[in-house]
Amino acid sequence: MRLALARYAQLARRLIPLSPDGRTAVHEWQECGELIARPPSDGEVHYVWSFLLWGSVMDPGIRRQLRKGWGLCERHAWTLLSVEAAFRPHFPHASTLVYQDLMERAWQAFRLVGPLKGERVRHALRERAPCIMCSIGYGPESRGTASPGVLEQGRDVTSLRRFAEATRPWWEPAVCGICSESGNPTRCRRHLRQELAGNAGGRRFEDAGNLVWRISAHVSRFARSFRWEFRGSDTDEDRAALISAVGWCSGWRPLLSIVESGQRERGKADT
Ligand SMILES: [Zn+2]
Ligand SMILES: [Zn+2]
Repeated sequence: MRLALARYAQLARRLIPLSPDGRTAVHEWQECGELIARPPSDGEVHYVWSFLLWGSVMDPGIRRQLRKGWGLCERHAWTLLSVEAAFRPHFPHASTLVYQDLMERAWQAFRLVGPLKGERVRHALRERAPCIMCSIGYGPESRGTASPGVLEQGRDVTSLRRFAEATRPWWEPAVCGICSESGNPTRCRRHLRQELAGNAGGRRFEDAGNLVWRISAHVSRFARSFRWEFRGSDTDEDRAALISAVGWCSGWRPLLSIVESGQRERGKADT
């Protein structure tokens, strides 16, 4: 498996130059939640378009790394969804399958029984692998060699913004209060882990489990609606669960910056 992943990374590196000076600066941008100031680069779009959206997320080695890392880092988790939404606005199939799997695993973690439950959940929710895209070396400066039309369409966040705006009432209660600096008591996975480190159990822990259960149930319904016999059965709440799942696993800042930029643009247009 390790060999397959190494070959995969080698192929991705050969096809797509990493940065103008060829350096690999892993994780430099991970704390930068902003996809508006630094939109998906040509390399990031090319990678998602060429690899993740066309079968790679079904590769067992890739799926295993995604599970271990709870998806991708904050920037790349939203890059994946944004690029997929740009090409498949009504059918974000790859992202939905990835997050259906991750949220089921998260829900299993909360169903642990026995003593020290909070600490054991905290342990289960840790990252055991780095972000695939960061580990290959993709970042805001990466170059890509897809056609100009593909790159332009892929870096456009409008489709994700529309998707988020249409489903906002259902994902907004799931926004992490620390990511959003809003005071909301809800927490994403990373911030929940930080809090559980100091205070395992309690009301907040139960609320976190209920949130994970709701997201998991609705994102599963959304995934099911891609099957022919269930087509059209998904609701806005089911679609919103995909947004909530990405935010819960990786953090909310890029999505919030995209939604806020839309509000700013509308504000300018109104004045
Ligand atoms: Zn990353
Ligand atoms: Zn958070």
